[in-house]
Amino acid sequence: MFEPITADLYRIPIPVPLPLKYVNCYLLRADHGWVVIDTGMRYGPAEQTWLASFERLGIEWSQIKQIIVTHYHPDHYGMAGWMAERSGASVWMSPTEIQSVQRAWFQPLPDAADRLADFFELHGMPNDLNRQIWQHTMDASQYVDPKPVLQPLDMTQPLQLGQRSWQLLHAPGHADGQLCLYDAADQLLIVADHVLADITPNISLWPEAKRDPLADYLASLEQFAALDVRLALAGHRKPIVAFRERCHEIVQHHDQRLDLMQDYARTGKTAFEVCEFAFGVSTLSAHQLRFAITETLAHLVYLEGQGRLRREQRARQIIFLDQH
Ligand SMILES: [Zn+2]
Repeated sequence: MFEPITADLYRIPIPVPLPLKYVNCYLLRADHGWVVIDTGMRYGPAEQTWLASFERLGIEWSQIKQIIVTHYHPDHYGMAGWMAERSGASVWMSPTEIQSVQRAWFQPLPDAADRLADFFELHGMPNDLNRQIWQHTMDASQYVDPKPVLQPLDMTQPLQLGQRSWQLLHAPGHADGQLCLYDAADQLLIVADHVLADITPNISLWPEAKRDPLADYLASLEQFAALDVRLALAGHRKPIVAFRERCHEIVQHHDQRLDLMQDYARTGKTAFEVCEFAFGVSTLSAHQLRFAITETLAHLVYLEGQGRLRREQRARQIIFLDQH
């Protein structure tokens, strides 16, 4: 139900209705009460886990003083409003992520889902699959309820909580404005989904997001690999001990995927065709397929940015192909 990391910090794995099974949320002791980092997706089992964890730890709602959300994805952000309503705590995100929330695909408006479907169609997604993704996107808004009022964090100032002084680090790639918290004195990093232990973080191109998220990600990973980290607390799976090595493994993974996709696209392929080749589309759920195609696009756009592929519009579809 919860795992003490240090005397003033707990990891709370909250169940999510996704193949990932859990999101790791964190409770940090502050002088004035507790600070929650990330919240989970709003559904019954997650609510029950939070209530049981608070009870076991002897924490009252009124002791939750601040909620910090590392990035806008529903598994991290979805319950912030639920928690804020009960505790009266304020909800904080990086200024960039507040903008991401406003444009997010899980807004309960068909136009966000429509925009996404148009984008996927342009990149070769067959209609039946695109329809399934559209429905899945529309259904996602139920997990983000209610919507909290968001306060922008001042990323230039350290956040003092109890004995610790946390630096707020911008960690783009998985989400444009993702936030990590670093306590240099204790070499402790709350790394969100920037680096994960045994799965690679999803790096996706969304129609409304920055144009080359993989370039942003790889540049950021290089900076993070230079930090002294004895323990990195990730958004999913177990904490990471060999942090620098894990950063390097992830860079290698993307280098291999880039080579593979470049080679396959050489003769002219849509992003969907490359996705089918790289991920094996037939075994994926609508949720997974949405991330597989946007991850493929992040790689193709990166290759384009590096001059390794170019794009051509043919009829109503975009084809990626060799430079020559
Ligand atoms: Zn996540």
